[in-house]
Amino acid sequence: MNTISVNTTQSCFCGSNFDFSCCCQPYINKELAVQTAEQLMRSRFSAYAIGNAQYIYDTYAKSSQAEQSVEDIGDWSKSCVWIALVIHPLANSVNNATEQLVEFSAFYITNNTLYELREKSRFILEHGIECDIEEKKESTFNTQLKQWRYIDGDIIAHSELATIKRNEFCPCNLYPTAWQSKKGKKFKHCCGK
Ligand SMILES: [Zn+2]
Ligand SMILES: [Zn+2]
Repeated sequence: MNTISVNTTQSCFCGSNFDFSCCCQPYINKELAVQTAEQLMRSRFSAYAIGNAQYIYDTYAKSSQAEQSVEDIGDWSKSCVWIALVIHPLANSVNNATEQLVEFSAFYITNNTLYELREKSRFILEHGIECDIEEKKESTFNTQLKQWRYIDGDIIAHSELATIKRNEFCPCNLYPTAWQSKKGKKFKHCCGK
């Protein structure tokens, strides 16, 4: 499946204020292993933003992969424009060495409507996926080191925030993390294209 081409000097989609090439891209390219559940959360959002369904599939926990397909993830990721991610601090966190929670809001546009999906996600530290391909064995992604993986999440809210008219300014302008190349445009020339 082709991924959407991106300018790597643009700010990362996850809202970190780093360039994509210094933030989520090395994880998505499987050149580096994430160190925390939040990093995995962020890189999965960025993978949605660029339409890299394989990375999203590969970073599900083994116990959750059977319910997923790369095709379905790809269809869903590409039917939406993923415009921003906000991580919410958790007050009474049960985070420990091998299981962590991350609460986030993902903002996206589909069918001329802006949505917020707020979810509390569960992540687990588990052994990487076995790999028979010799060159991939060298990748940090497939080593025997334990890696953070996404199990599932509880949806806290899935809200319709606005319906967007073609000649209005695109709501992605409200979010500092949106694609920089699109800034300042009307919806019909931006995320509504
Ligand atoms: Zn990032
Ligand atoms: Zn836009």
